[in-house]
Amino acid sequence: MGDFSGKVALVTGGSRGIGRAIAVELGRRGASVVLSYAGNEAAAAETVKAIVDAGGKAKAVRFDVADSGACSKAVDEVVKEQGRLDVLVNNAGVAIDGLLMRFKDEDWDKTLDTNLKGAFALMRAVSRPMMKQKGGAIVNLSSVVGEMGNAGQAAYAASKAGLIGLTKSVARELASRNIRVNCVTPGFITTDMTAGLNAELKEKMAAAIPLSRIGNAEEVAAAVAFLASDAASYITGEVLKVNGGMYM
Ligand code: NDP
Repeated sequence: MGDFSGKVALVTGGSRGIGRAIAVELGRRGASVVLSYAGNEAAAAETVKAIVDAGGKAKAVRFDVADSGACSKAVDEVVKEQGRLDVLVNNAGVAIDGLLMRFKDEDWDKTLDTNLKGAFALMRAVSRPMMKQKGGAIVNLSSVVGEMGNAGQAAYAASKAGLIGLTKSVARELASRNIRVNCVTPGFITTDMTAGLNAELKEKMAAAIPLSRIGNAEEVAAAVAFLASDAASYITGEVLKVNGGMYM
């Protein structure tokens, strides 16, 4: 069917937005997709239906990526049920905005636990089965904000910058086992995460982007699918910008 035929992919936060587009793209290319979600069961079921209706294989599992015990249990179950795990996409994330002076400890912890510790826990969990099967590909969703910073997003930017260091370190650690680890840094993408921004701000942001528009989830999914595929077999530790030229 495609370049992921016979492969199993776990996509966190696959119920909505960029994660949904990634799950659909990997499913379209032949992967058996396990997508995770935090609580939005209806959206997760919709993604599964979209993949299955298109002739692919998918199921949804609910767990909190901030809970490292739940992460390793989820990975164990995928490997037990499907016999292997070839691709991990750490996409689940939260953006809690606020100025430094007023930012609460609990919001800092939630942001770092979800966006950074979750990716760490899942990479740790998949490393053993991937080593056993002598290969795998991991893609982490960082952000342009992790590269350039953003006022009012200190915690989010720290978590996303942390993901870049985490990606490069784990890439070095697992390269000899034929496990590639890369990340993408999307710019401003239309999803629920950015839906709350007012129209005027969106227009201003689009005008500052060289390609003069906001991106869509499918454009990020295409980059993730490339890095996860054998077409990227000599690429590891890479940070791929998908930002319309917003930051070069
Ligand atoms: P959305 O807010 O649209 O979706 C977030 C997804 O993550 C949902 O599937 C949600 O599940 C899941 N999720 C959230 N918290 C948890 C948790 N604790 N455990 C498990 N799953 C969780 O996000 P986007 O699609 O916009 O973003 C996806 C990724 O891309 C994020 O990492 C984000 O930081 C990054 N990104 C987004 C950009 C943008 O402009 N949109 C730009 C740069 C990076 P549920 O549906 O159950 O709530």
